Amino acid sequence: MIVGLSFDDNDSIDGMNWIINLFNRYNSKCTFFNSSKYIHYMNLTYKNAYDNGFEIGCHTHNHLNGSSFSIEKWKKEIQTCIDKHKEIGIDCNKIFRAPYLEVNDNMFVALNGLGFKYDSSLEYYPYDYNSNEIPYHYKGIIEIPIQSLENPGLKSKSKNDYITGMDWNWLFEEKFTSKNALELLKYNFDIKYEQNIPFFCGFHSGIYGDDYEHEHELPMRLEARRKVLSDFLEYITSKPRVFIQNLTDFNKN
Ligand SMILES: [Zn+2]
Repeated sequence: MIVGLSFDDNDSIDGMNWIINLFNRYNSKCTFFNSSKYIHYMNLTYKNAYDNGFEIGCHTHNHLNGSSFSIEKWKKEIQTCIDKHKEIGIDCNKIFRAPYLEVNDNMFVALNGLGFKYDSSLEYYPYDYNSNEIPYHYKGIIEIPIQSLENPGLKSKSKNDYITGMDWNWLFEEKFTSKNALELLKYNFDIKYEQNIPFFCGFHSGIYGDDYEHEHELPMRLEARRKVLSDFLEYITSKPRVFIQNLTDFNKN
């Protein structure tokens, strides 16, 4: 079974190093969606990840809300990100994720024009597709969706049945405790595992760094947040035939 975990923004050296070490411990890989506005101080960390086989995806240069962007504006934001990574020897022109998951049709036109093969910006409810529909093609691009997480009745702020499958949502929106966050991830992993459907989930490496600027707004402290992730990896790697790999490797096994 394929597991694709991804980390957005990547603005903290400590956070990204912690993620890299964690994944190395489990002999696993993940995809980092970098915004190149951080590259002037993140360059060595990005290069270290890339040289060690972690995938680098494009997350634009300025990390702006793009739902009303023109094709040209998308192209500029994306091309700047590609160029800045190219300067330090990294190719990030294969897979894209939109900041805030804010997309429009112009974005897909821009991605096609720039030769991107994959996008991971669209959110799907868990039962909208089955394994036969993966890879899912959308507007000329292979879509690796952000999977919504089904809430199995855990106490949450929104009381919604489904939660966008990114850590920002279960931390800031739902204000989950660490116990419930781990429960949410395990429950949703198990659903996919039983059906042998790939499990994709998103995070932000900065949230696991010792310099996180929104620390005081979070329901759990740094060590607790790190423990959610490391306990989750421990759990999924205890199962047979689980491969935790770069997002675009998902159709190789
Ligand atoms: Zn982002």
